[in-house]
Amino acid sequence: MKKLNPFQKKLKHHKKWRATNNIYGHEPKFDIICAYCGDDMVLRHSVIHTFENVMSYKCPSCSWFIRFRIFWGEEYLKGILNKFRHGEDFFVPVEDFMENEIIKQRLIDLGYW
Ligand SMILES: [Zn+2]
Repeated sequence: MKKLNPFQKKLKHHKKWRATNNIYGHEPKFDIICAYCGDDMVLRHSVIHTFENVMSYKCPSCSWFIRFRIFWGEEYLKGILNKFRHGEDFFVPVEDFMENEIIKQRLIDLGYW
């Protein structure tokens, strides 16, 4: 059995997240729905720290923003950082933004594309 870091021993919420072993690091096993409008929230960024992956989600309709701190094994997180992010801890899924019509149009209006 893999050794857990001190945070994982105390917390159960990491069972609600799945390790993806790709550039994202993790994905939720539950739907992330905006508490204000009920829309599906969109991953805004994923940041890898030593013992955690911080996943932030934003509502495309009302811009409500939430952040999950997912405590995970250091070895796995280092692997994501080195294998998929070239050492860059901050990942913004820009390509995914274009799959959401509201976000896509907003970015075009702002002059990003
Ligand atoms: Zn909303």
